[in-house]
Amino acid sequence: MHDHAGPAQAEGCGHVPAAIARAEQLCRERALHFTKLRHDVLLAVAETARPMGAYDIAERLSGPDRRVAAVSVYRALDFLTENGLVHRIASRNAFVSCAHEHDAGEGLVFLICRSCGGIDETTSPEIEAGLGRTLERAGFRPASRILEVEGECGACHERHAQASR
Ligand SMILES: [Zn+2]
Ligand SMILES: [Zn+2]
Repeated sequence: MHDHAGPAQAEGCGHVPAAIARAEQLCRERALHFTKLRHDVLLAVAETARPMGAYDIAERLSGPDRRVAAVSVYRALDFLTENGLVHRIASRNAFVSCAHEHDAGEGLVFLICRSCGGIDETTSPEIEAGLGRTLERAGFRPASRILEVEGECGACHERHAQASR
């Protein structure tokens, strides 16, 4: 589990270089091309603590002498998602980078703070086991095992509690 991805912690906490290093290693191992665009998209997502949409990423990567289309960003995001380097947050239609190791099929729980927009990614063996039994009973084959829980993170809760004191 990595640190809570609060908005103030985006840079300088080791998350960004770790995400890029992991992507480089993974692409080497699987003989995949870590193209400049894939690199840049991952960097943009990793640098931002909040989930980013494809259009935000395209805008961020585009400049006076470079025009990046959202469709290219989507293709890069597909690649990064398939390889477990970023995760899609369905309720936001946005993406966050994953800097820690877990198996591709492992159940993930995203804790999404409505106040600061921060996202914390965790894995839970208890939920994973329970979900597995539920799916089996229903005869349901999941395409993904990602749960999203919206609410208020610990830091925001603390801040609000102090403000009302
Ligand atoms: Zn992850
Ligand atoms: Zn928060």
